[in-house]
Parts: sequence; structure tokens; C-alpha cells
Amino acid sequence: MARDSETAVLEVENLSVELGIGGRWVRALNNVSLSIRAGEALGLVGESGSGKSLTALAVAGLLPDNARVVGGSIRLKGEAVLGRSEAELNRLRGRALAIIFQNPTTYLNPLLTVGAQIAEVFEVSPELLASEGGGRLGKRERRERGWRLVVEHLRLVHIADPERVARQYPFELSGGMQQRVIIAMALIRRPSLVIADEITTALDVTVQAQILSLLAELRASIGMTLLLITHDMGIVAQLADRVAVMYSGSVVEASDVASLFAEARHPYARALLEAVPKIDGNETLLRAIPGGIPAITNPPPGCRFHPRCPRAFGPCAHSVPAAVALGDRHTVACHLYRDGPA
Ligand code: SF4
Repeated sequence: MARDSETAVLEVENLSVELGIGGRWVRALNNVSLSIRAGEALGLVGESGSGKSLTALAVAGLLPDNARVVGGSIRLKGEAVLGRSEAELNRLRGRALAIIFQNPTTYLNPLLTVGAQIAEVFEVSPELLASEGGGRLGKRERRERGWRLVVEHLRLVHIADPERVARQYPFELSGGMQQRVIIAMALIRRPSLVIADEITTALDVTVQAQILSLLAELRASIGMTLLLITHDMGIVAQLADRVAVMYSGSVVEASDVASLFAEARHPYARALLEAVPKIDGNETLLRAIPGGIPAITNPPPGCRFHPRCPRAFGPCAHSVPAAVALGDRHTVACHLYRDGPA
């Protein structure tokens, strides 16, 4: 079988990040490890404050100014992300990565038509306007090819009447249409990895379902590799092949989606699944997880989940559990499994 390093689009190994808060450095990510193979979708799931968005920002080389990496590595298509200059990062991102964020209104320029802002991609990727044979085109031919690409990509994300929409301004479009435009913009360079950060959170339920089914279809049609950041296990079940559950800056369980849904091992992963509304006969069962994620400025010692964990025992309050391999690409960080599968 091929090793991950031979096939992975993204490899994050033991990534640790600190944030400067209140005049001191506090640990926000602890030894985070992830890998995504070409064509795979990995759901990175956890409550707010678990570190999933910070992990995504680190992968994109977009950590905030008050963050510093204190350990580990990130490789995108085999190339190191950490330690690069801003110009090198821009080039790497342009070739390999696209990010779709939660609120499309924030990322669309209200003063430009949809077509004009999708066409801005051609300024950073002029090769998209080269002839089929790779040669340089004249000005008029470049404009025509650009327009064709814009319309093709609006059609790819199922926007009806793409020629008309390309001439419209963002305020003339619904939230769902704006998110489709952002997805079209993200895909035009055919990035090796697409990061989707809570992209349906701001949308109503019907539109959310449409965007999720669009992403599922794009995965199949263009082989999109996806890092899906979400707090919603239902979205993971619908879209992802693999899942990594984060809690307070650490990955506590990672496996394929079917195994996690069949039998989550980590008590926090189990609690997250129990918090998903289920229809059982005429009843809706919903169990909230008691307590909240600890503040990173004052985390509990040992396993950070122990104050909320129904299975906590002797070592949990003082010893940090290491990740244990339970099977092929299945790991869990919990003292219950320190001697292997229980
Ligand atoms: Fe619960 Fe202990 Fe496992 Fe942490 S290490 S999840 S406290 S059993």
C-alpha cells in the first residue's frame, strides 16, 4: 500500500501553535497531525474554540500576527508551508490552495460585477488565459477566453443564466448565489486543496442543503480534495470520507467517517455524535455536552476533556494522553486506549 507521504495532498505533522494573549504566549494547538490524500474529503470537526479554524489558517499560511508556530510541519503537495516568505506563500497558495469562508458578502467586492471579480483571478494566474497550446493570446482573444472561463465556472456551480449573473453586482444576488460565486472563484485555478470553513453556517437550511449537494457533486466531477471545517456532524456524514475530531487544540480521534459513526472511541467524539439530533420513532433525541471548552489561557492539566468526561479515571487529571493507533489511519488520544483497542 502507498505511504501517506507518497499520495498526500496535505500532511500536517505534530503542529503546535501559540497565541500571544494578555502579554504571554498560550498554547492553542498541540501536536496536531492530519493527512488528506488526493480526492479525499476530511471533516475537521469540534465545538467553537477547538482549534479547527486556526489549523486551517496555519495550513494556508494565514496565521494572525499574534500567533507563532512552536513545532511541527505542514506540507502541501510535498512543499513545506512553514518558514516561507509572504511572496513564496502567495505563489504556493495560488498554485495549490483555495479557501472558501463562511460569509460570502465579506469576500465579494460590492463595487465590481461578479464577472469582473472572478476575472481578477487572471491577474495572478495569467497562464489561464494562454492558448490551448500554451502560447500567448492577443488582447481581444484573452478577453474572450476570460469571459468564457467565467461563464463556464458559473455554470459549473449551477448558476442559471451565467452570462446575465456575470454582469450583476453581489448585492443583486441571494446569499446562496453569492456562495456559489465564491466557489466558482475558488475552483477556477483547479487548486490541489480546497478549504471550506463553515461555509453553510450563514445560509438557511434549504440553501445549505443545495450548497452541500453542489460540493458533493464537484468532488465527484472534478476530483476536488477538501478540508471541511465544521461543527456539524451531519455535514461530515454527508460530505467527508474521513474525520478528525478536535478538542481544545488537539486531535482526539481521527478515522474514516463510517467507523466513527459506527463506533466512536473517544468520549468527546461519542458525546458530539450524541448531540446530533436524531429522529427515533416520534421522538427527537438530543443530548447536550455538559460544560464548555476550557479557555486556552487556563486549560485544565492532564486530558483537557477530563472535567467534562463521564469516563475520567486515575491518570486523566494529571497526564496528557498520547495518540494511539487503533487501525489503518485510525487514532485516538485517550487513556482508555493506552494499551491498544479496548
Ligand atoms: Fe476521558 Fe480520560 Fe479519555 Fe480524557 S483521557 S477522554 S478524561 S477517559
